[in-house]
Amino acid sequence: MTKGAPIYNRVALIGLGLIASSMSHALRAKGLAGEITGHARSAETRAAALEIGLCDRVYASAAEAVQGADLVVLAVPVGAMAQVAAEIGPHLAPGCTVTDVGSVKQAVIEMVGPHMPASVSFIPGHPMAGTEYSGPHSGFATLFVNRWWLLTPGVDTDPAAIARLQSLLESMGAKVNSMDPAHHDQVLAVVSHTPHLIAYTMVGVADHLAQVSNSEVIEYSASGFRDFTRIAASDPTMWRDVFLTNKDAVLDILGRFTEELFVLQRAIRMGDGDHLFDYFTHTRAIRRGIIEAGQDTAAPDFGRSGPPPKG
Ligand code: NAP
Repeated sequence: MTKGAPIYNRVALIGLGLIASSMSHALRAKGLAGEITGHARSAETRAAALEIGLCDRVYASAAEAVQGADLVVLAVPVGAMAQVAAEIGPHLAPGCTVTDVGSVKQAVIEMVGPHMPASVSFIPGHPMAGTEYSGPHSGFATLFVNRWWLLTPGVDTDPAAIARLQSLLESMGAKVNSMDPAHHDQVLAVVSHTPHLIAYTMVGVADHLAQVSNSEVIEYSASGFRDFTRIAASDPTMWRDVFLTNKDAVLDILGRFTEELFVLQRAIRMGDGDHLFDYFTHTRAIRRGIIEAGQDTAAPDFGRSGPPPKG
């Protein structure tokens, strides 16, 4: 990556896990921030952030970490956003931009918005990129490359502040789009939240099946179960908060999912092969569309070269 001029003089990362550490690596690699300060809840994470070089300085209090910053990124679980926003509100530099990376937007806006002073541009955001790993060691500079970063600014937000943030996100490799927060939450319920719930459920079902021994579940996992287990290994705190805060949209999509599942269940029971074939033909076309949009690899088995490592 080539370095350019910093877009922000001081970036404060509040929360130092997968998303914040990936941002730090990307900002450093491209020289996008003059300096980076940070805050995390535990002394262990703060020490790790210094050791890896994610931050120039870390603080035990979020209020101290944001002082003098022209960009503040809230990268804590959604359930912690309100507390963090209340703490930093009085200490934000006039004219600074505050963004967040939470996976749900309406709830975060309700939690954070009231604590933002009028002199600050609050631009809610969501990078649609992640892995099943968490913590300060899990980040990498290319996480956001060619991934969407959705922004849900209010209508009164300063366009110059949005353009500046957008240029930072694009410099990290992301593709940026803006949308209404309610629409964001509905879309995410379809493409991310409900699929995670289904993966958690499928792994739970296999675990509860007494007639299939654990060793068989693990040994034969490449038949599809393995991909569910990767998703179901995602951070429990983050996903608990997602379901608690995007409740209505997830329940709506889950209702539709259950209806479709019953239709497929009936087709199987009635031996309606035509229905199953047509349905699977349609879903295969959706997969092709995702590959054509550059959002996944066309390589067989997601490009895995051989059998999964054991142990
Ligand atoms: P993570 O790796 O689990 O890290 C969370 C960080 O937040 C940790 O540094 C943690 O500190 C800190 N934290 C938690 N509660 C806190 C509190 N009350 N006060 C201060 N710091 C606190 O999480 P992540 O995956 O980066 O996720 C961060 C945000 O990004 C979440 O809102 C999530 O919805 C969103 N997001 C995640 C993904 C994904 O795939 N992971 C994708 C897109 C968006 P300690 O380490 O000290 O506990």
